[in-house]
Amino acid sequence: MSRVALVLAAHGSHISAATAGVVWGYVDRLRRLGLADEVTAGFWKEQPAFSRVLDSVSAEEIVIVPVFTAQGYFTTEVLPAEMGLEGALTRRGAVRIHLTPTVGEHRLLDDIVDARLRAAIAQFNLQPEQSAAAIIGHGTTRNRNSRAAAKAQADRLRALGWLNEVVAVYLDDDPAIPTVYHQTRSRNIIALPYFLAPGSHVTQDVPRALGLTAGQRPESVNGRRVYYCEPVGADASIGAVILELARATGLPFKNREPAGDWAGFPTVGRRALVSALKREGSLRFGQVMLSADRVWRSGDVTATRAFKTPVELRTHLRAAPFRPLSTSDDLPGGWRVDLAAPEQAHAVLETVYPGLVADWAAQRHGNLEVEPLRAVSRRQVGLFRDIHRLPAQVIEQTIKKVCGGCVCQPIWWRGSKAASSKGSELPCRSACNLWLSSAQKLGEAVA
Ligand code: SF4
Repeated sequence: MSRVALVLAAHGSHISAATAGVVWGYVDRLRRLGLADEVTAGFWKEQPAFSRVLDSVSAEEIVIVPVFTAQGYFTTEVLPAEMGLEGALTRRGAVRIHLTPTVGEHRLLDDIVDARLRAAIAQFNLQPEQSAAAIIGHGTTRNRNSRAAAKAQADRLRALGWLNEVVAVYLDDDPAIPTVYHQTRSRNIIALPYFLAPGSHVTQDVPRALGLTAGQRPESVNGRRVYYCEPVGADASIGAVILELARATGLPFKNREPAGDWAGFPTVGRRALVSALKREGSLRFGQVMLSADRVWRSGDVTATRAFKTPVELRTHLRAAPFRPLSTSDDLPGGWRVDLAAPEQAHAVLETVYPGLVADWAAQRHGNLEVEPLRAVSRRQVGLFRDIHRLPAQVIEQTIKKVCGGCVCQPIWWRGSKAASSKGSELPCRSACNLWLSSAQKLGEAVA
């Protein structure tokens, strides 16, 4: 039977841990269920990148579930370009890659929306005939389809007719969020963010656009009472939506073996890592030290806390403060993971540096494919299309500033002359999103 991998594709963020954090939460739950041989996530803004995540899985059948609220710019343009997808099914040698519809299009989202609105009505004792629902989507002027899911929800609710008014408004499209006060007349406005993660859009941008100062507490704005709900993605049933989308491909997502907390990780590079660990006794990987029975932050000399699950470890590493680059050289210390078997070291490393073991192993085997900046530009559909045209001093300055604080070597740029000075062997084979964003901004500043 073919091996099956499940890959969640999501946006991620440079400023909010929660945006990708919620996706890693789904990954953790799906791994524990043992429904697929490998489960992981890839991101536009974080690591592993859309363009690299597939290199970390070895399954012959790969199912990509876009954790987005709508078919739009990211799912129809960025994701196919970054992953080299040709549609719902892409064949790459013996590997078949299935791309499912987005989470936000699934019919279970209707139930979540209805439950959220009814919960607000019940909790605050509101009269539906005096209440308007504002379904708040992201939208983007770059792709008109991005608005479709929020609009479809508003149309559906309006047809049901149990609320006085229903509108769809958008953070980055028209009608804009503040128009809710002109479009509706109801005394109460129940504002429901049609977003999957409680990231900075949900916690800052949308409340600000609504004129709210107190987050989810009811507040009076422009003479109306505004009830701000949690985003639809905070619902526990999103995991079931992901599974339904994956199962709709016809592949067998069912219990294989009893899975533990450290099971179900991507497997490329695992054998090479475990062999090296057994052969050498201990290994240094970026800022992580590995031995046959323990993994810890290098340089830790004081007492450390033993983490037993990937959730505990990831929360410790990502949350205080948020590190948008998992390979930045400020890895928090004070932790260790005691290993049940040397194989578990690989899962711990995948938690600390997602996707990186595959590149490390490829480099050791001499088959790491480096992607020059021009090739990165070629697959861009947006802002970074001309990134390779930036003046060399802008590129080098950005490498110094951004890569200088990263445990990886940017070997994609002239073979990385800085490699020996860093004392690290971890390769970076193509420019990451944080680097692209920083270079773009610096290029604009000096232009
Ligand atoms: S581009 Fe630079 S900062 Fe980004 S992962 Fe590579 S080496 Fe690190």
